[in-house]
Amino acid sequence: MTTTLISSCSHEGDKPSGTNEVTNFEYKVDRFADLEILRYKVPDFESLTLNQKKLIYFLSQAALEGRDILYDQNNKYNLTIRRTLEAVFLNYAGDRKNKDFEEMTTYLKRVWFSNGIHHHYATDKFEPNFNQAYFEMVVRSIPASQLPLEGYDNDVEKMLKAITPVMFNKKLYAKRVNQTEGEDLIKTSANNYYEGVTEKEVDAFYEKMRDPNDSTPLSYGLNSKLMKENGKIVEKQWKVGGMYSAAIEKIVGWLEKAAEVAENDAQKKVINSLIDYYETGDLLTFDEYSILWVEDTESRIDFVNGFIETYGDPLGIKASWESVVNFKNLEATQRTITISQNAQWFEDHSPVDKRFKKDSVNGVTAKVITAAMLGGDCHPATPIGINLPNANWIRQMHGSKSVTLENITEAYDKAAQGNGFNEEFVWNDEERERIKKYGYQSDNLHTDLHECLGHGSGQLLPGVSQDALRAYGATIEEARADLFGLYYAADPKMVELGLLPNMEAYKAEYYKYMMNGMLTQLTRIELGNNIEEAHMRNRQLIAQWVYEHGKTNNVVELKKKEGKTFVVINDYEAMRGLIGELLAEIQRIKSEGDFNAAKNLVETYGVKVDPEIHKEIRERYAALSIAPYKGFVNPRYEPEYDNSGNITDIRVRYDESFVQQMVRYAKEYSNLPNLN
Ligand code: ZN
Repeated sequence: MTTTLISSCSHEGDKPSGTNEVTNFEYKVDRFADLEILRYKVPDFESLTLNQKKLIYFLSQAALEGRDILYDQNNKYNLTIRRTLEAVFLNYAGDRKNKDFEEMTTYLKRVWFSNGIHHHYATDKFEPNFNQAYFEMVVRSIPASQLPLEGYDNDVEKMLKAITPVMFNKKLYAKRVNQTEGEDLIKTSANNYYEGVTEKEVDAFYEKMRDPNDSTPLSYGLNSKLMKENGKIVEKQWKVGGMYSAAIEKIVGWLEKAAEVAENDAQKKVINSLIDYYETGDLLTFDEYSILWVEDTESRIDFVNGFIETYGDPLGIKASWESVVNFKNLEATQRTITISQNAQWFEDHSPVDKRFKKDSVNGVTAKVITAAMLGGDCHPATPIGINLPNANWIRQMHGSKSVTLENITEAYDKAAQGNGFNEEFVWNDEERERIKKYGYQSDNLHTDLHECLGHGSGQLLPGVSQDALRAYGATIEEARADLFGLYYAADPKMVELGLLPNMEAYKAEYYKYMMNGMLTQLTRIELGNNIEEAHMRNRQLIAQWVYEHGKTNNVVELKKKEGKTFVVINDYEAMRGLIGELLAEIQRIKSEGDFNAAKNLVETYGVKVDPEIHKEIRERYAALSIAPYKGFVNPRYEPEYDNSGNITDIRVRYDESFVQQMVRYAKEYSNLPNLN
């Protein structure tokens, strides 16, 4: 429930460039389909000690070794399809210049970007712009030894028969995560978390494990596939010796090296506990690890590596594999320390009903980090903020760690400069100037507030289950965190604490939020579709609700100029009042586990799209040729060795294209069989 994704809107920034300028650094790397690939810098890596560099290097290797796991989690046939396309891409001796081959290459790039055949965000299957006959022809022309035939009796035809319907039959595996109310969410979702079981069976299976009186419940089902075997429902655990063992063993190997160069004992314990968890699959160990991890706040270097977020499962039970390796940005962290130190003040002053507030806000630790390596579900598409762990009781008893990935937001900002977005979508010069002046700063602040306070605020009433809101839970949780951030961005306390320069700055964030939630984020949705993804639903929910409820007082308007629709905010203070009202209601829904109210809010405001505005926004976007989604290539770490094979230094390189990186990863980190 805890990843902040960058909004589709970009803005011109006014932030000075980072230290350690790299000569000829190019933020923009590649552009295809609805995607753009950027590159991020790792400023200050050079200033770390050799041991710290080694630690980052070993953790980075561990971050890449799990790559295949995510492909397989996203769909059973993803690894076979990716490897077949890669084999064709690298070996096809026929005409590589024609349209079909180019379309197939684009399709492969999309598979790389999404870690599978479904759109990384919309989760529907993309359509190949080449036909099945062409695909079969090129595959058959490749020597069998180059093709992924293991698991298919070494038979090309058998392999093709398995994957071509998956790629070309629109109806098969159409949606990775289906959230459509009233359908069997498990049977109709194409992910590989479940096989041969119905939603009812899944509910029953996990209901039996849950004890409503358990104050420290395990995250049941988090690290396993649930399937039927000989008519019996069984869990296949992801661990050494279990499912995905080959990749997990590699991860563990690098973690063992990392433990040897840990910065301190606390960090060593964290790493060893994670190894223990990977070796046993024991969810109690995972909780122990999470507590050690959240309590290690002193180390400069930090990392996430494991089965963490549950967005890929419509029921929010199974976690996808991900990794982020990072180190603290000491200067910028001062900002989040200020926020955390005042966490209790924010909790006490929030417009939420007292019963749903925390008496004492526990250890919200927040920091600004520099991402050094992204892996699994954090790559190539990347969060800009992370708040973990996810288990509610650990958050309440031990606190949570919240981070903002500033070198990532900076790359977004730099790459967006001068792209014409603000000229096209912002109502007037006054708003544009304000966004130019304060947009980057207020955006970062909103992310900080969302992560370090929003997710950590409030409490469930006794007996309310963390999963009570079911498929609406993720949207409500994101809305809660966003509203908390929006509400306080406009508080004079921000200026008092030196987090914003004046009472004008928050208006930049309010304007961008409304514009994005009502209009510009629609560019990410195909015409005719509704909004599915939790963060997008949350943004539209908030924007539409504020718009509708402010109508009588004309708080926010949609105005037309030369046939184009714009957001106009007439009364910023009143808008803040509405945000406070909605925050109070959303917190009530979460705290009471009011499923019907959650459903009603999300379905009324967060899902449906006005087809005319949708079409207009898509056209205006197309004219600007801005990609609606962005992702990143990673840097490359190159160790230098002495004659005895000891690492003497590690260099960071920014020299790979997207294709080069994906081809290299496929070669170096191909750890799993085609079928698992
Ligand atoms: Zn969030």
